[in-house]
Amino acid sequence: MPTTPSKEEAELITRAYEFAKRAHEGHTRYSGDPYFNHVEETAKILAEFGVGAKTIGAGLLHDSIEDVGTSEEEVKEKFGDEILFLVKGVTKLGRLKYRGVERHVGSLQKLFVATSQDIRVLFIKFADRLHNLRTLEYVPEEKRQRIALETLEIYAPLAYRLGVRKLHRELEDLAFKYAYPEDYEKVLHLLKQTSEGTSKRLDKIMKSIKKAFAKEGMRNIRTECRVKGIYSLYKKLQRKDWDMDKVYDIGAVRLIVPSVNDCYRALGVIHGTWRPLPNRIRDYIAFEKPNGYKSLHTTIFTGDGSIVEVQIRTEKMHRGAEYGIASHISYKEGFKKKMLNPSFVWIRQLLPYWPGESVPADENTPSGGQINVPLWLKQLVETQQNITEPQDFIKTLKADFFEHRIFVFTPKGDVVDLPVGSSPIDFAYAIHSDIGDHMAGAKVNGKLVSLETKLENGNIVNIDTKESSHPTQKWIDVAKTSIAKKSIKAFLSKEAA
Ligand code: MN
Repeated sequence: MPTTPSKEEAELITRAYEFAKRAHEGHTRYSGDPYFNHVEETAKILAEFGVGAKTIGAGLLHDSIEDVGTSEEEVKEKFGDEILFLVKGVTKLGRLKYRGVERHVGSLQKLFVATSQDIRVLFIKFADRLHNLRTLEYVPEEKRQRIALETLEIYAPLAYRLGVRKLHRELEDLAFKYAYPEDYEKVLHLLKQTSEGTSKRLDKIMKSIKKAFAKEGMRNIRTECRVKGIYSLYKKLQRKDWDMDKVYDIGAVRLIVPSVNDCYRALGVIHGTWRPLPNRIRDYIAFEKPNGYKSLHTTIFTGDGSIVEVQIRTEKMHRGAEYGIASHISYKEGFKKKMLNPSFVWIRQLLPYWPGESVPADENTPSGGQINVPLWLKQLVETQQNITEPQDFIKTLKADFFEHRIFVFTPKGDVVDLPVGSSPIDFAYAIHSDIGDHMAGAKVNGKLVSLETKLENGNIVNIDTKESSHPTQKWIDVAKTSIAKKSIKAFLSKEAA
């Protein structure tokens, strides 16, 4: 049973829709389209993410204060504090008081601070950015370049870390074309040369897979093809000497099955019929990725000389894989299941995917629950807050959060993610400043190591503490993360005082 908007929710969206329409009257975009189209499309994208009515309402209003001079008081009076907070979070700093880079970076900082209090702010920004990218061809050249690069360096990695893969893919692929036009053409050319072969191959293997499942009496299976995004292919080609033959996952087959048990049964059928490549089997159901991604992956020899990746998951895992953290947000706003009132039909037309559209639950998985801002995002804001130089802000942002990450484990199996090159010192401070401040030694996979050791993916790290042990000046150079450096400096200056 699809969830439908309650009377209050429909009324809120209707009011925001009418308000924004009036506010943007007579304004046009670079393309010549009415400005209102942009806010309407932003709201549609938000609805597709599955976020709630307040977020959709704020999406409709997101450019009202900045671009058309509606006052904050008016938004507050008509839509309340919560929606005003969301709209203000994505509003840029005033044009008159701030200029150029300073205004731009200041606005980014402001966005992050608001996001650390309410993650819905970031989703409005995501939707806004996605529509701007879809219409980027009309924007003046130099602005186009900035938007495209910023998308690749900041928003796309953020979307990835929040597990919103569908958004991540589209942001990257749209921005790539404008950020690196020559490389884009090069990859596109390679892709065109192989695409016919790829799709024939995928069609053939899909038919065989369906046959194999029918034989086992498993008919309730949805299959789809997924072709690698062009930017993600570009990154892989750079690592594989631009050799398409070394990219195994250019096309993948996806099997969507009713239950978790069926996932493992389906894997059995696949391995019983085709030979899998060794060391390419991944169980992200038993061991989900740190961003929440769940699926079974395997790569098989198809028998005609080629290989293909197969991904197996339930409908719920699929929704989670495509929309990540966004697929939980609507629960926070407490959607009520009610029959659709005929007068709300236009909202269904405006918003083709209403929040929380029924997705069959996996057995034994609780639905709903509060959605909190992830800890790493809060830390990001904390470490960025005191940076005043715009260039430093972008630099540390990239160093801390968007460089390649490694995932290491505590002895209990909790995941800690850190930038590549991190040491046990970074690990200790990522857990707690008290642990860092009293670290006496570290073990990696059970062996004693020096504190300068560079940690690697999958390491199990154990920190020994002693009341009498303390950080030294040297640790600051060894530490890679801002949080560790900051804590060490704080300790040393406290000690000196
Ligand atoms: Mn906008």
